[in-house]
Amino acid sequence: MQCELVMIGTELLLGQIVDTNAVFMAQTLAENGISLQRKTTVGDNPARIRDVLESALQRSGVILISGGLGPTEDDITRECVAEVLGRPLEYRAELYDDLVARFAHLRLNITENNRKQANAPRGATAIDNPNGTAPGLIVDDERGIVICMPGVPSELKPMLTDRVIPYLRQRFDLPGVIHSRVLKVCGVGESRVDTAIGDLIVSQSNPTIGLLASPEAVRIRITARAKDVEKANTLIDEVDARVRERLPGLIMGTNDATIETVVDALLRERGWTLALGESHTGGIIAQRLTAAHAQSFLGALVDPAAHDGGPAAAARDAAQEARERYGADCGLGLAPDDEANCSAVHFVSPDGNETWQLGRLGSGHRGQVRTATVTLERIRRHLCGVQPPPEFRTWQRDAEDKRD
Ligand code: ATP
Ligand code: MG
Repeated sequence: MQCELVMIGTELLLGQIVDTNAVFMAQTLAENGISLQRKTTVGDNPARIRDVLESALQRSGVILISGGLGPTEDDITRECVAEVLGRPLEYRAELYDDLVARFAHLRLNITENNRKQANAPRGATAIDNPNGTAPGLIVDDERGIVICMPGVPSELKPMLTDRVIPYLRQRFDLPGVIHSRVLKVCGVGESRVDTAIGDLIVSQSNPTIGLLASPEAVRIRITARAKDVEKANTLIDEVDARVRERLPGLIMGTNDATIETVVDALLRERGWTLALGESHTGGIIAQRLTAAHAQSFLGALVDPAAHDGGPAAAARDAAQEARERYGADCGLGLAPDDEANCSAVHFVSPDGNETWQLGRLGSGHRGQVRTATVTLERIRRHLCGVQPPPEFRTWQRDAEDKRD
């Protein structure tokens, strides 16, 4: 099976949005052993979309399309697919009923132009879209299979993984599965992780191991090919254990875990609450805990001004003041040290207090994100009693980590 992507949207060509859908689609196809041949990006122009579809159909058996399924004038994917495949658009009352129900559920008023979202090329199968309004479409034509998905990433992603991939696997009888697990490390530079597990990365073929760094975490992705998910997990478990041996206590969580959700869970396990006294981090730790719906988090005081009495004392005062103000079990205080690129952090908890000195983590927003991540990781290590080996103890940005 040869597969192609067609990304539709003038915004993409103007560079106004980043094509994250293509990245997600390419990764998902690769994980499922579906070979992607080509990707084309085209604006909201009917002649050019038809042209792209014509040539894609000459090359490939499966065309996956992102975007242009909305209700507005520039959403013309449906029309173009119908024309190229010679399957006229038909109005489907049941699709319209679904739309009406979705709008009612979202407490939105349905408008006349939404009607066209109930149109489908003759013989197409509609894919329902629980995260939006426009249904996706599968047209299994003798010239090729054309699959249309909405451009909104939160709609496209689940539609691809939950509906389209299972469809393709069944349709083409794809053998086995490709399954991944991501182990996450915070507060250790990418090159240090690479040094610790580099030989495993090089020597492994099934599962394979890949590294990806971001300011939030270093992600170690373990990917196995096997007959089924259970067998893949058995293969992954072995490598997972070897990676954990090399990085003792440093795997913060797996897959979707974030440092804020992990710290919140650890605090809640103990029945403890947390208040923050932030300064040069400008409330970013509070923002991240709030976005993660951390129930242990009671509130934050943010005072960006420099404190008297030295960084360590300022961090301690900030932690205590916030703890008292919110009546929390734990208090976390931060203060800038050395032009705000370093930080003093103080953590007060019912089982003891700790002060940390964080190294240079960069300036601006990225520096704040790193400081927040490393601080939360320090709390995790404190709560879990993790004492990492010396080489992992101070987080310093390695030469390669400076790129991002
Ligand atoms: P809508 O019903 O919102 O009109 P649609 O299926 O017509 O959805 P588009 O109009 O193409 O999709 O895109 C809707 C929004 O989704 C865009 O404004 C953009 O924010 C986002 N989007 C579209 N394509 C991509 C893409 N390839 N990568 C990331 N985001 C995208
Ligand atoms: Mg649109």
